[in-house]
Amino acid sequence: MNKDFYDKLIFDCSVKGRRGFSLPVNVFNDNLDDLPAQLLRNEAPALPEVDEPTIVRHYNNLSTNNFGVDTGFYPLGSCTMKYNPKINEEVAAAPGFAALHPAQPDETVQGALEAYHTLQSFLSEIGGMAEFTLNPFAGAHGELTGLMVIHAYHDHNGDFARDKVIVPDSAHGTNPASANVCGYKIVEVKSLADGTVDVDDLRSKLDNTVAAVMMTNPNTVGMFEKNIPEIARMVHEAGALMYYDGANLNPMLGVARPGDMGFDVMHINLHKTFSTPHGGGGPGSGPVGVRDGLQDFLPNPRVIYDETDDSYYVSTDSPEALGRISSWLGNFTVELKALAYILSLGADALAQVGPHAVLNANYIKDSLKGDYLLPIDGACKHEFVFDGLADKSTGVTTLNIAKRLLDFGFHAPTIYFPLLFHESLMIEPTETESRETLDRFIEVMKQIAREARETPKVVLNAPHNTPVVHPDDTEAALHPVVKYSEL
Ligand SMILES: *Cc1c(COP(=O)(O)O)cnc(C)c1O
Repeated sequence: MNKDFYDKLIFDCSVKGRRGFSLPVNVFNDNLDDLPAQLLRNEAPALPEVDEPTIVRHYNNLSTNNFGVDTGFYPLGSCTMKYNPKINEEVAAAPGFAALHPAQPDETVQGALEAYHTLQSFLSEIGGMAEFTLNPFAGAHGELTGLMVIHAYHDHNGDFARDKVIVPDSAHGTNPASANVCGYKIVEVKSLADGTVDVDDLRSKLDNTVAAVMMTNPNTVGMFEKNIPEIARMVHEAGALMYYDGANLNPMLGVARPGDMGFDVMHINLHKTFSTPHGGGGPGSGPVGVRDGLQDFLPNPRVIYDETDDSYYVSTDSPEALGRISSWLGNFTVELKALAYILSLGADALAQVGPHAVLNANYIKDSLKGDYLLPIDGACKHEFVFDGLADKSTGVTTLNIAKRLLDFGFHAPTIYFPLLFHESLMIEPTETESRETLDRFIEVMKQIAREARETPKVVLNAPHNTPVVHPDDTEAALHPVVKYSEL
């Protein structure tokens, strides 16, 4: 029997009356009157009727069709798909944490509150901020929360004319989206040829109607914004605040802190930098940090340490606070994984994360820059962008390269983002990959460039080895077929 049989034919192998389970006796059979009539079905659902081995093989085979960090190299730029140590999962699943109810009285969850509070103070130290809330559920949610803090700050000062947020043209799409959801108008600032923000363009857009400037540093092309002290000075002089999109914090770990660069508010993606599995929609966590003077605006609830009797409690009564932006205290298991990651590495190893992420990215970039077009040369941080193949005459596009990589068991890099280049191919290897993995990736990328020259059809028709070969992307988005058949 081959894998395909169990992959595809689960409905086709259905045999009427065949069972792989036995359910307890239906206690409602004699009491159907107890159930509302509209909840009763007249016919049994059309489910496949199969034996237990068939269904077990079906799902096990399906699970191996999925690609993840545990199955292969995943250089998806901007996403920091680093390896997630399994010890983090064990900590998060420990019954002492996993069996808690969020509404338990504070005195019965002192350990959990201490874990929350400890992570808050670790992140404050790492970000150079005065205080963090762990409540937001994702990076974008953190952006919205941070912008709401900025809004509350300006309102508090009676500064109601500030209705704009400035966002660089290289920013992640969530930046303008969050600013928009927060009620701000978006003003775009241009990037220079080296990918950094055009300071003159920014200066010309600053006035007393600007609430904040959102920046990502290193930015989405992997370049460090060297003018950040000057930018922060200009922005503060105009009365606006500096927002740091910390989804790219990984290369800064152990190297530099947003608070020291002049940022007032920031978020961190725990599900990127702090080693929590992500992709497929979560769960994530986007803690928000603020500099001294902005703490009062952070959302409720907060975890407070009471020195007098050395205990923790959950507070919801800060008068200036935003109120709730999430239920309870955020995604607690994600917070635990981040805490376990920080504690298991320790300060010294954590300070090696950034430099190694940078080294790995530069190693790949310099090894491939003859074959691929490198629009922004020079040392990058954690990621960099190729603008497709150096030789464009073959007709092979970034999409073809991404698909061909799948044949070799690599996840594709981020493609067609950032929008600064036509054929963007954005590569972020992260620090957790071995030299051998990087070398194998480089070898395959070189082979693809060679194929593009010599046998372009092989690349143009890729992938050849994946379970699904040539989906029609447009059709799949417009008319998704999520059922095996019209049952
Ligand atoms: C991933 C990312 C975000 C958004 O984070 P989510 O958790 O996906 O909402 C924002 N900015 C940058 C630069 C990112 O890479």
